[in-house]
Amino acid sequence: MPLYTFRCEHCSTQVDEQRPVEDRRHPIPCGHCKGLMERVPEMCVIDTFEPYYDEGLGCDVHSRSDRKAEMARLGLVEAERRETQCMVGGTMTRAIPCR
Ligand SMILES: [Zn+2]
Repeated sequence: MPLYTFRCEHCSTQVDEQRPVEDRRHPIPCGHCKGLMERVPEMCVIDTFEPYYDEGLGCDVHSRSDRKAEMARLGLVEAERRETQCMVGGTMTRAIPCR
């Protein structure tokens, strides 16, 4: 089972909980104040990577390590911020939010 991070809306207590994927959106009771804990959405490292043509790099990217290697070759550094921004309209980099 995957590990999800939940945070209490009341007391902000945060816990990591193993949950079945189908239950990931269900709030869990807080062990602290009996409030409800909602899953904290995060950008996760995905294990499914779709190959795509990266205009920024000028080549096909087949995997994360592929892209990293190519960026290193070109002397580029990963920019997390830009990765998120580019998700909207960009082709240069991609980040896929957890579902
Ligand atoms: Zn709480």
